[in-house]
Amino acid sequence: MTEAHKESMSFLEGVDRMVDRATLAAGLDPNTACIIKVGSAVIQVKFPIRVRSGVEVFTGWWAIHSTHRLPAKGGLRFAPHVNQDETEALSALMSYKCALADIPFGGAKGGLMIDPAKYTVDELRNITRAFAMELASRGFLNPATNVPAPDMGTSSREMAWIADAYKSLFPEDMNQDACVTGKPVNRGGIPGRAEATGKGIQFALQEFFRHPEELVKSGLVDGLSGQRVIVQGLGNVGYHAAKFLSEEDKVKVIAIIERDGALLNEEGLNVHDVRQHLAESGGVRGFAAAEYKEDGNAVLNMECDILIPAALESQINANNAMQIQAKLIVEGANGAVTYEADEILRRRGIVMLPDVWVNAGGVTVSYFEWTRNLSHMRFGRLQRRFDELRGSTYATAIEEMTGKGMPGKLRTDIVRGASELDLVRSGLDDTMRMAFADIRDTMKRNPQIKDYRTAAFVIAIKKLAQSYYDLGLAESGE
Ligand code: NAD
Repeated sequence: MTEAHKESMSFLEGVDRMVDRATLAAGLDPNTACIIKVGSAVIQVKFPIRVRSGVEVFTGWWAIHSTHRLPAKGGLRFAPHVNQDETEALSALMSYKCALADIPFGGAKGGLMIDPAKYTVDELRNITRAFAMELASRGFLNPATNVPAPDMGTSSREMAWIADAYKSLFPEDMNQDACVTGKPVNRGGIPGRAEATGKGIQFALQEFFRHPEELVKSGLVDGLSGQRVIVQGLGNVGYHAAKFLSEEDKVKVIAIIERDGALLNEEGLNVHDVRQHLAESGGVRGFAAAEYKEDGNAVLNMECDILIPAALESQINANNAMQIQAKLIVEGANGAVTYEADEILRRRGIVMLPDVWVNAGGVTVSYFEWTRNLSHMRFGRLQRRFDELRGSTYATAIEEMTGKGMPGKLRTDIVRGASELDLVRSGLDDTMRMAFADIRDTMKRNPQIKDYRTAAFVIAIKKLAQSYYDLGLAESGE
């Protein structure tokens, strides 16, 4: 479905150009930008595995972009199109994302060139474990230095296999659970990680809509409810974003684009039902309550309020950027908008909320999981009942002082101690809001910066520059 497009640069070159643009816009030291852009290490591994058809050799990468903070953190992608340039580009985006979101990690990314759909669960387990062993035995999988997480084509299942493989190599490492995040909750994971990126997109949009002076730039008005949304990719990110936004904020998901085409319904699609259909049939074709269009790419250009590309990179490119009619693009997928498309869309006045901000929810909650694994204790275990006791005391005091009983729901809300999921959601919401506050502040202090992506990159570059400056390797980030 993806058209061959006219992009003149690779994914990595495009990300580097975004750094150059931000460096120029904020008058930062170009030499420092050069140091920041350079990736620190990349390993390629090849390993043979016996599958049903015989022995196959698999190729995978782990790219580390920055190590100013450790561990270096990034998603692990299983897809047939995975390659070194893509892995390095995604590792660079991770550096900038972590810096913007104030996550104390370096940036990394992993990838395995594989079509997971072609293998049985047993084969996939063997392949994943072997890949993990290849990385761990060379120090590229380790709780202190290199920590993967789910990305396209992987989920909590693969993360559990990876943790298990690491454990079998290093049983004496008491922090072994922290070698990977996004694990199942009963295997050292944290509640709220699976849906974190989609939830983060919802929090980002809610925050954007809290600021009328920002909203007006996109031509959108009147809150999230009723906004007409198109989502590309109903996987982990796209599904959760669409589900939360439609169920809780009452947006209308008027189109969903998947690999085999798109579904359209002006009244709003039931996201849960579409996902169910996708899981059962492997595509969106044949879903009853919608019009089906085989040319999914054309639907990206349909008129709508908000477009959320949440499938893969380069979907909005030099080929189609002139045709996009959305008022606001929310970049759920990493690199969904290419550098050249970004230039075109900015000229056309289409507002973009960039990937390094809006999809930072995954790594944010991964950070919470990693911290939880190192502390060997769930969040809230010490204070939850204490908070409940204090809430109960407040409620009783108010009742005694006013001589009135409190309505049951109000009392329950005051008394309730936060669950671990409440704490995770609160920390995620705070992270998304603080990052946007920084972006807005940067734009206020640098009126020549007119777009959120450039502002986000300026913040990230300054933070990275400061780290290098502290080591005497660069000019001050300020
Ligand atoms: P996923 O594999 O769960 O879902 C991807 C979905 O996109 C699938 O449903 C797939 O069928 C669909 N798709 C693939 N190619 C398509 C095409 N050409 N047109 C339409 N649909 C297509 O992956 P994911 O984890 O949801 O990741 C999606 C994007 O979000 C990636 O760019 C990833 O790097 C980024 N991301 C993911 C996370 C995370 O926590 N999973 C965090 C941050 C960023």
